[in-house]
Amino acid sequence: MKVVLQNITKIFPSRNKKSNEEVVAVNDFTFEIPDGKLIGLLGPSGCGKSTTLYMISGLLAPTSGQIFFGEDDVTQLTPENRGVGLVFQNYALYPHMTVKQNILFPLQNFKGEAKLSKEEMLERAFQAAKLVQIDELLERKPNELSGGQQQRVAIARALVKMPRVLLLDEPLSNLDARLRLQTREEIRRIQRETKITTVFVTHDQEEAMSISDMIVVMKLGVVQQIGQPQEVYDNPCNLFVAKFLGTPPINVFTGTVKGGKLYIGEDAVMDVNGVEDQEVYVGIRPEGFIVDAKGGFKCKLSNLEVMGRDVSVVSYNDASLNPVVRSIVDADNKIDRDSEFITFALKPHKVFLFNKETEARIYLENKSENKKETKKAKGGK
Ligand code: ATP
Repeated sequence: MKVVLQNITKIFPSRNKKSNEEVVAVNDFTFEIPDGKLIGLLGPSGCGKSTTLYMISGLLAPTSGQIFFGEDDVTQLTPENRGVGLVFQNYALYPHMTVKQNILFPLQNFKGEAKLSKEEMLERAFQAAKLVQIDELLERKPNELSGGQQQRVAIARALVKMPRVLLLDEPLSNLDARLRLQTREEIRRIQRETKITTVFVTHDQEEAMSISDMIVVMKLGVVQQIGQPQEVYDNPCNLFVAKFLGTPPINVFTGTVKGGKLYIGEDAVMDVNGVEDQEVYVGIRPEGFIVDAKGGFKCKLSNLEVMGRDVSVVSYNDASLNPVVRSIVDADNKIDRDSEFITFALKPHKVFLFNKETEARIYLENKSENKKETKKAKGGK
């Protein structure tokens, strides 16, 4: 089931009697979620992710705009009539019911033609439980389950209705690190098996990148960029997106373009033919550095963190906007720990320039990235 959001805006009225300041939680969001795909809605706290999800579910009505499931305009439909399955951060299971009763519960509300026989309900509940691998736990109560198992019950309860669209709001937040990893892989597997169009809300970029077919990066209610995770990582449309994706985060510097060369401090670090002379922000991914005594970029060496295959080089540079410069290089490099400085060459496709005022990306001439631009917000910001 494809889902189309057409110019969706949500404005919350001011709660404060003294000021009339409204909150524009989501601003003119247009996007077509392809059938059967898993979309990660990603952004910092308060950027409008949950509001978007609740508008898709029908729990919140948009101030303007339309929502379509396939060709059906569902904007005015209640959640029950949209056929969505919702899973929240806090599993919200009924504590006095067994796992089986929790999963059966939504089916008992089916009315009219949709009404199922007891056998049909039990079969569906069992199939849903099997899909999320809790079919051995059906007689237990929620307090006899781990967090990960409880979240699986919540997912089974959403799936049992055979929803047209599955909506997950930070479903992994309450799980510890190991369970998060495991459960996110489970969610991906279940989504692949059921092929239900799924929207997954998270503020964790790694989580979104790892399981989504496409990610939507939001900031203050405005979509910044939409694309496949790797595409967006490799080709961010502005400084915000570049900074939001990636662990360790991108290194950001102030720089200057002069006569076709990019300068960071006094160092000419790269050719940038075709870019006008100007002050810029320079983003360099940690994997964009090459240890090279003849390279043009000199930093003050602080520490080497050995990670096995790679080494994380921690250094300082006066033009850096991050507290330290972090570069990930191959462990085969022979780096003298005691030397005061380290010199790098840069991998051009890992270096991004941004306008100093608008923070929009400045694209370099003759680069394939220009052709393969992902969708970005209006004005390139
Ligand atoms: P988080 O990750 O913290 O859940 P989010 O990206 O999901 O954040 P939303 O919950 O969608 O963000 O909120 C977006 C904006 O709308 C925020 O500024 C929030 O304060 C505001 N907001 C959300 N719900 C309401 C409401 N019912 N009334 C007024 N403002 C609201």
